[in-house]
Amino acid sequence: MLLELFITLLLIHSQVLGDTSSSEEDENVSNEHEDDHKKSSSHSDHWDYHNQRSWLSAFTDCGGKSQSPIDIVTREVTYDPRLPAIKLDGYDLSGHPELTLQNNGHTLQLQLPNTMRIVKGFDQVYLAAQLHFHWGNTEVPGSEHTIDNVHFPAEIHVVHYNSKYASIKEAASKPDGLAVLGAFIGIGLHENENYEKILSVIKDVSTEESDTKITSFNVRHLLPDSLEKFYRYTGSLTTPPCYQSVNWTMFNDTITVSRKQLAALEETLKAGHNQRLSQNFRTPQNLYGRQVLASFLTSHTANAGGSSETNTFSRTRATGTQDGLTRGDILAIAFGVLFALTLLFFSMYAYRQRQKHSKSNPDSRQNVIYKPATKEDV
Ligand SMILES: [Zn+2]
Repeated sequence: MLLELFITLLLIHSQVLGDTSSSEEDENVSNEHEDDHKKSSSHSDHWDYHNQRSWLSAFTDCGGKSQSPIDIVTREVTYDPRLPAIKLDGYDLSGHPELTLQNNGHTLQLQLPNTMRIVKGFDQVYLAAQLHFHWGNTEVPGSEHTIDNVHFPAEIHVVHYNSKYASIKEAASKPDGLAVLGAFIGIGLHENENYEKILSVIKDVSTEESDTKITSFNVRHLLPDSLEKFYRYTGSLTTPPCYQSVNWTMFNDTITVSRKQLAALEETLKAGHNQRLSQNFRTPQNLYGRQVLASFLTSHTANAGGSSETNTFSRTRATGTQDGLTRGDILAIAFGVLFALTLLFFSMYAYRQRQKHSKSNPDSRQNVIYKPATKEDV
């Protein structure tokens, strides 16, 4: 009976471990998506957010050691007072030609003229190319970077390339090629009139590969009021081909949009086979010893979360899928402990029986484990 219990536990244990070894992302992949992936596996440029682990097979950089996004652990960042302040130039496009807004199947993207520049903050001048967004849905907050494991509802990335290269295409794979300015988007009580310049026409690009023209405006207003406090680290594109070419700046101050505006971002766009384009964020990647610098004292950042309306909201929305132990982990640990205890108990029992039996019948030791079980166990 004890032996049966032992074998049963062993089987359950191995099953649980087997289940938890599959990724969290895989759990969300339906058969339909798996089929899609198999069908299109010949196209190396095809990828989606459902199975992010599959990016590695077609895009080797995605498995590198300087990947983005990351979780920013505020207590572990290094305050660097020498980080130069960021100075932007040419961001006010009021009166300029119209801008192209596009649904490219992965995000909502606004093309930017390279007259928009980061003129101070880096060794070289960086020229703007495009900005885009990452978001979740009403249940899941969808920023890519996290602060102390907490996701914000959405995130904006303004992508720039090093002016020493002729184009973003040329710069994209170079170690000093790109500089991305990122900011967290939370929910506020009021409509954000600057974001409304984009979101009011989002319906016009609801289908994949569609685009529309929008009136130019001051793009600076899409970023937080203050750009003084930021985190800095070296990382990558957060989408394939995941080139490790991005000098990342994540601002500490956040932007707010109304709940209705966030819903427009989360619910309007479609991708592929008429599926909703949402949850277009990559899971935070391992730091592998990289240093995250802060332009401000970290004691401030440790207290900054949770105090504002935005942060409180994002914390309550956080689903906890990215942090702590998953249900599978807890089950695996529980069964592991049970397994160890059973093994210990079984060993002690076997030892005791062997000793008892060797005293009474030293010639039949090979039967020692099984014989007493039929005699004495109840
Ligand atoms: Zn991005």
